[in-house]
Amino acid sequence: MGNKILVVEDEPALLEVLRYNFLRGGYQVVTAGDGAEAVDKARQEKPDIIVLDLMLPKLDGLEVCRIVRRDMTMPILMLTARVEEVDKVVGLEMGADDYVTKPFSIRELMSRVKAMLRRGAMPPLYQGESGVIRVGGIEVDPARRLASAESAPLALKPREFDLLLFLARNRGLVFTRERLLESVWGYQFAGDSNTVDVHIHWLRSKIERDPHRPIHLVTVRGVGYKLEG
Ligand code: CA
Repeated sequence: MGNKILVVEDEPALLEVLRYNFLRGGYQVVTAGDGAEAVDKARQEKPDIIVLDLMLPKLDGLEVCRIVRRDMTMPILMLTARVEEVDKVVGLEMGADDYVTKPFSIRELMSRVKAMLRRGAMPPLYQGESGVIRVGGIEVDPARRLASAESAPLALKPREFDLLLFLARNRGLVFTRERLLESVWGYQFAGDSNTVDVHIHWLRSKIERDPHRPIHLVTVRGVGYKLEG
C-alpha cells in the first residue's frame, strides 16, 4: 500500500488532475474541496502528508494548518496562488513545512511530496551523532534534536532544525541555495531556491537578536549563506 495523501483544492479541475497523478504515482488519495472538509478528512483518514491549497472556502489553508497542527505532525505542503501570498505564509508561520507557488508543474509537486515523505519516514539526520555542536552562542544537539541560542531553547520546525544542523556542522563554509536545497531538502534537481530563502528568514527570526542584521547566519553576497564560525 502506498502512502496516503490528502489533497485539498477547491478548483474541481485542478483537484482531479492532482488526484489522477497521485493515484498513478501509487498513492492512496483522499480529497477535500474546502477547509472544513479538509479538517474532517485529516482527522478521519490520518494521511501521511497533506497538500493544501491556501485560498479555500469555509476555512482557509492557514486555519486548516493551525487546527491540524494542534494534534497532528504529518508534513503539510501549501499551494499558494501568488508569490505575494508566500509572505503571508512566512509571516504567520502557520506550520506548513514547504510551499509551491501556482502555477506549478505536477512533476515538481510530486518530487517535493516524495522528498517530504522520505524525510518524514527517515530517522533524524545524523542519528547516532551524540556530540553537541557549539557555534558562537548557538548549540545544536543532533541526537535529541534540540537547539538553543544564547542558552534560550529554540522552537524549530524539522526542516529549520536540519538546516541549522547542516550549517553548524559546516560552520564558516559558504553554501549556495542550490547546494542547501540538495543537502538539506534532498532534491535531485534545481528546485525552487526561494524555499531556502524562506527558511533562512524563519531561522534568523529565531536565532538572531536582530534578524535584519544577522551576526550568526550571514548572507554572502552573490553566493549564499553561512553560519559564522
Ligand atoms: Ca483555491
